[in-house]
Amino acid sequence: MTTVSHNIGENIRRLSRQISSTTRKYRRSAGDIRLLAVSKTFPISDIRDAYAAGQRLFGESYVNEAISKIELLSELDIEWHYIGPVQSNKTRKIASYFAWVHSLGEARHARRLNEHRNGMSPLNVCIQVNISAEDTKSGIALHELEGLAESVLRLPNLRLRGIMGIPAEENSFERQRQAFAKLAQAYNRLQNRGYSLDTLSMGMTGDMQAAIAEGATMVRIGTAIFGPRQEKR
Ligand SMILES: *Cc1c(COP(=O)(O)O)cnc(C)c1O
Repeated sequence: MTTVSHNIGENIRRLSRQISSTTRKYRRSAGDIRLLAVSKTFPISDIRDAYAAGQRLFGESYVNEAISKIELLSELDIEWHYIGPVQSNKTRKIASYFAWVHSLGEARHARRLNEHRNGMSPLNVCIQVNISAEDTKSGIALHELEGLAESVLRLPNLRLRGIMGIPAEENSFERQRQAFAKLAQAYNRLQNRGYSLDTLSMGMTGDMQAAIAEGATMVRIGTAIFGPRQEKR
C-alpha cells in the first residue's frame, strides 16, 4: 500500500500521474479514464480540498450523508455518483439528488428510479455485476446482465452507460486482472449486442492498476485520496 499524505490535492496529483503512467504501460490513453473521488465518511472540507485541486466527480455510498453534503456544496460544479447499494425506500432520494448510479442490480429498482426521475435529465446508470459470486456483495449474476440491460433501455428517464464491479479482494496482481477481465468481457459482450456504452466502472485504491490494465474507463478511489476511513456502519 502506498502511504497517503494528508494533502488531498497532492494525493490527487499523484493519482493522476499513476493513472497516466499505467495507461502508457498498458497502451491506453490517459483521457480514457475518469477519476471518481469516493468521499463517503469524509467531511465537506475534504471535498472542497479535492475540488480546489480540480476534482469534479464525487462518489457517495450512504444516501442521507450524501444528501446533506450535496445540499451544502450546491454552489460547486460537482457531478455526484451514487455507488452504495440501492434500496427501494431510497430510490426517490437517489433519483432526485444524483447524476449517476453505479450500483443498479434489480429491474424493480430501475423502474422506481425511472419514475422518480420524471421531468429531469436522464439518470446515468451502470449495472453492478457480481463476478465473484459472493453472497456478501450486491450486483446481479453475469447471466442476468443482458435481461436487466434490456429493461433499463426501455425506461426513458434512465440512460444505460455501462457496468460496475467490485471483485473480491485479491493481493496478487494477476488474480486482480483475471476478475477485471471477466467484467471487461461482459462489457464488450453487451456492446457487441448493440448497446452503446462508455463506462466500465472498476478499480479502487487496492486494485486500480489491474483495472486499468483490463479496460476500466472510470476508477473509484477513496483511500488514496482522502486517507483511511473510520468505517462506522
Ligand atoms: C468505498 C468504495 C470505493 C473506494 O474504495 P477505496 O478502497 O477507499 O479506494 C469504491 N467503490 C465502492 C463501491 C465503494 O463503496
